[in-house]
Amino acid sequence: AAKRMGRNQYHLFNETLKNAAEQYLLMQQGLETALLRDEFSLVYQPQVDSRSGAVIGAEALLRWNSAELGFVSPQDFIPIAEQSGMIRQIGEWVMLEAARQAVKWVKDGCCDKMQISVNVSASQLSDPAFSHKVATVLQTTGLLPRQLCLEFTESAAIREEEHVIAMCDELVSMGVTLAVDDFGTGYSSMRTVTAFPFQFIKIDRSLIFDIDRNPRNEAVVRSVLELADRLHMNVLAEGVETLEHVDMLQQLGCYYIQGYYYGRPMAVEAFEQWMLNRKIHMKRPS
Ligand code: C2E
Ligand code: MG
Ligand code: MG
Ligand code: MG
Repeated sequence: AAKRMGRNQYHLFNETLKNAAEQYLLMQQGLETALLRDEFSLVYQPQVDSRSGAVIGAEALLRWNSAELGFVSPQDFIPIAEQSGMIRQIGEWVMLEAARQAVKWVKDGCCDKMQISVNVSASQLSDPAFSHKVATVLQTTGLLPRQLCLEFTESAAIREEEHVIAMCDELVSMGVTLAVDDFGTGYSSMRTVTAFPFQFIKIDRSLIFDIDRNPRNEAVVRSVLELADRLHMNVLAEGVETLEHVDMLQQLGCYYIQGYYYGRPMAVEAFEQWMLNRKIHMKRPS
C-alpha cells in the first residue's frame, strides 16, 4: 500500500509539474500576441497625501485579459514576460499608455498635478536604450519629466549594476523621479537606497498590514522614516487598508499613502469618477 501511495504521489507530482509547465507555455505563447491583440490594459491606483487629502499621483498597474486564459495576475505573467524578454516591449507600451493618460487627465482637468508611477523590470533596466526610450515617451506625449516616476526593486537593479546606476543618474538629471519599490522585503535593502539615486522609498505592504498591532514592524517603519529623512528622501506606504493604518502612519510621520483605504487600482472611467467624488467631498465642510 505504501508503495502504491508513493507511486500516486509521484504521479501527482508529475501531473502538477506538467500542468505548471503547460501553464507556463500557454502564458508565454499568449504574451507574444497579447500586445497585437490589444489584451493589455492599465488600472490606476491613487497616491494620497494624508495631511491634505490631495492626490499626489497614481501608480499604473498592468492587467492582462487573455483570450485563452482569461484574467491573469501580473504576479504570474510578469516573471514569464521577464524571462522571455517580452517585458521590454510590454514595458514600453505601459510607459507610453500611462504617460498619455496622465497628460490627458491634466488637460481634461481631472487632476491638476499628476505624477504617474510605472513599474520597471530588470530586463528593461539592463536595456542600454532604456533612458532613450523614456525620453522618447516624454517627447511624444508631452509629459513633463517630473510627472513621471519609475519604480523598481533592488533585485531589478542589481544586474549590471554599474550601468544601471549610470542610467539612473541620467534619468534623474532629465528630471524623472525614481522610487525603490517593495522596500523592506528581501527584494530591496538598505544598500539599494544609498547606491541608486532614488527620491522615493515605497514601504512594502508586508510591513504595513499589522503596523497598528505589531511593535516590531512599527519599529522597522520608524527606522525607514528616519533613514529617509537623513538621506532627504520621501517615503510612501503601500497596502494601507484601514483608518488605523493611516492614523499610525501619521503619528510616525509618513504621509504619502497608497492602498485600498483610499482607492483600489481602477480602470480609467472608475478613476475619473473617484477623482470627481473626492473633489465634491473635499469642498464640503465637515
Ligand atoms: P507593486 O508594484 O508593488 O504594486 C502594488 C500591488 O499591491 C498591486 O498589485 C496592487 O493592486 C496591490 N495593492 C495596492 N493596495 C493594496 C492594499 O491596500 N492591499 C493589498 N492587499 N494589496 C494592495 P498588482 O496590481 O497585482 O501587481 C502586482 C505586482 O506586479 C506589482 O507590485 C508589480 O511588481 C508588478 N507589476 C504590475 N504592473 C506592472 C508593469 O506594468 N510592469 C512591471 N514590470 N511590473 C508590474
Ligand atoms: Mg510598484
Ligand atoms: Mg510595491
Ligand atoms: Mg511588487
